[in-house]
Amino acid sequence: MTSTIVRCKLERYKVYKPEKCFCCKTEVETHIVSHFIYRFFDINYLVLAFKCPLCNGLFFTKYIINKPYKSRRNTLMYSEIIGGHNINKEFSKEINNISPQFVLMFNDAYKAHQSGCIDIVYTGYRRAFKFLIKDYAIYLNPAQEDTIKKMKLLDCINDKIPLNKEILNNALLIGSDYPHVVRKHHKEVDISVIENAIMDTVHTIERQLSVKRNIDNSLYIANN
Ligand SMILES: [Zn+2]
Repeated sequence: MTSTIVRCKLERYKVYKPEKCFCCKTEVETHIVSHFIYRFFDINYLVLAFKCPLCNGLFFTKYIINKPYKSRRNTLMYSEIIGGHNINKEFSKEINNISPQFVLMFNDAYKAHQSGCIDIVYTGYRRAFKFLIKDYAIYLNPAQEDTIKKMKLLDCINDKIPLNKEILNNALLIGSDYPHVVRKHHKEVDISVIENAIMDTVHTIERQLSVKRNIDNSLYIANN
């Protein structure tokens, strides 16, 4: 664990720094961007604000600086970490346009995951995935919106999305009929498997949209 020197109100403190960013959980050297001292009842705290160079997330560490808590070498270990949760995953403009509901639901589940609320994360991710697929199918077949909304997810992928093999595989991993799968496989499927399968589907959709855009552009040029 690395330490650094912080000077505050004429005092010099040697403090241990966290070894990872508490926003993105990456082991990285975070930078102190601010510090202050405050008193709560009879305890004095030194508070440091850290910023992550990778995700730009901000979190705080609290150090007790009352004399009895100091070690002989005046080195302080943090007693509490504050913040670091609730970061959003960024999605491309295309995904935001096609399914704003997916982006909203995915990030609700993503934040619940960061806060340790695992029980609701599974359901949240599966629900978000369902919205992504249905909204994408509606985007490809705008005249069939009502039909697509009523379809089962696997049927929707099979019938309404071309080149659907990767998406279908991911749907099976994620569990399309989510209340059933939650009952049957709850906590048996690692949450990172579900998260990766969703992100893989997002990338597949983005690739398909890029191919479609190129074909549309070529047709436009050929016809003009
Ligand atoms: Zn970070």
